[in-house]
Amino acid sequence: MSFEAVLIDKPDRDITRITLNRPEARNAQSVKLLYELNAAFDMAARDGETKVIVLAANGPHFSSGHDLRDSSQIDQFRSQKPVGTWCGFECAGAEAQMSKEKEVYLGFSERWRNIPKPTIAQVQGKVIAGGLMLIWPCDIIIASEDALFADNTVDMGVNGVEYMAHPWELGARKAKELLFTSDWIDAAEGHRLGMINHVVPQDDLERFTLALARRIALKSAFALKLSKESVNAAEDAQGRVPAMSTAFALHQLAHSHNMQVHGMPIDPSGIKAPKIRAAVEARAKAKLRSSQ
Ligand code: ZN
Repeated sequence: MSFEAVLIDKPDRDITRITLNRPEARNAQSVKLLYELNAAFDMAARDGETKVIVLAANGPHFSSGHDLRDSSQIDQFRSQKPVGTWCGFECAGAEAQMSKEKEVYLGFSERWRNIPKPTIAQVQGKVIAGGLMLIWPCDIIIASEDALFADNTVDMGVNGVEYMAHPWELGARKAKELLFTSDWIDAAEGHRLGMINHVVPQDDLERFTLALARRIALKSAFALKLSKESVNAAEDAQGRVPAMSTAFALHQLAHSHNMQVHGMPIDPSGIKAPKIRAAVEARAKAKLRSSQ
């Protein structure tokens, strides 16, 4: 696979850094970006030299979430070879919606969370909705002081992003507040809630992250793997996986409901940016016309 939407480099022999590289689109997640990111994570996981993986982003913002403006998303799906086996991308209706999201949202984030090597997210600027599904699967999150986090999916008639880790990341009460209000959480609050390991000045973000990666990379790869899986097992013993499966099923119910009521998987009235809202509505109308 050739990489454009993400860049891969090795600051040290035992550290692989993957960088989101769509700064002109605030690193919005096209389907292509997600498949490249998945392939990059796989490469780093299988690289015998790599002991720590850093996920960074070019530009002022880490990620504005799913790319709602890009009208080529359906074609991009067709051009990918599915990683999962649930139904590929050839099925229709609610099954197609669920299949896509099971693969590239819940499925990919869960795969990345389970990579048996330490992963560090290096985060600046805004992280919106789908952006959370890139940083939450990482083991450690380092944020610059300007970082802001939000999940605005309830505004769009959906229960939350597909990887519903909110209660584990923020605690149940703050998770509900984040979802009910769509308000921002800043880096300081994220740190206080335990979602962020360290908050650092913006011009120190890269240096601080790499220094931490280098300290971790001095340890035994096998001990790091066992350590990571032990902590992950504690979250899973608390019911993380079945709770997130229920949330994902409810998320699919929301998409089906919105299809029936609004003719598209989301309620467009919640999209604040007029250009994105117009693009989403035009795409839904075109899809409806082509299916009649
Ligand atoms: Zn969805």
